[in-house]
Amino acid sequence: MTTLFVSDLHLDAAFPAALAQFGSFLRGSAREADALYILGDLFETWVGDDDDDAQRTGVCTALRDLSDAGVACHVCHGNRDFLLGSGFEQRTGCALLADPTIIDLYGERVLLTHGDALCTADLAYQRLRSVVRKPAWQRRFLRLPLATRRVLAEEARAGSRAHTGMAAARIMDASEEAVVRVMSECAVRKLIHGHTHRPAIHEFVLDGAPAHRIVLGAWYEQGSCLRWDARGYELLSLPRGGPE
Ligand code: MN
Repeated sequence: MTTLFVSDLHLDAAFPAALAQFGSFLRGSAREADALYILGDLFETWVGDDDDDAQRTGVCTALRDLSDAGVACHVCHGNRDFLLGSGFEQRTGCALLADPTIIDLYGERVLLTHGDALCTADLAYQRLRSVVRKPAWQRRFLRLPLATRRVLAEEARAGSRAHTGMAAARIMDASEEAVVRVMSECAVRKLIHGHTHRPAIHEFVLDGAPAHRIVLGAWYEQGSCLRWDARGYELLSLPRGGPE
């Protein structure tokens, strides 16, 4: 029994190497797993389930092949692809996860989240997040023509790049206080998230006992994957051009 976790693929026609590597991953090592969790930002943008972009359609087909092969695929919303909906689930056979979600992993309660909600020091982003995650805002956005939504998504990306370039590195990271709060509330000792693009395993003391926060890496320059089975887990970086 093996469970794989990835996040922050940011798949887009502009990053063909990441698209190719993730395609090989889905056809390769992911087939050997029992379950695959994609913890947000699978796509650089997702403007609605009616999106017919060729690259994104190709990714959906590859995910459908993987779920048809018997691998349970779960996807969590990221800050880029929070509009993934039931149409995406039907196309791919993936199940969307609430953020955060607690799963049982080989007898241990593990908390999964994309990670953007943990960056509480970034007040401007948190304000934007609270607006675009409202069902009424999303319903209004999804009623716009596809071409308009694409233009708006492009503008949002440019705005996000400008904001990320300006903000201090500390602000863009998960806040320790937010991590401790959510882990205590959920009564877990393990948290897995992505979003910050700072792959690491952080060990710390939570309520008097050891706890771990596992951060998945982005796929811009290489792949990143957490592999977990009954013996334990390892956080792997997957070099481009290596076996997937
Ligand atoms: Mn993100």
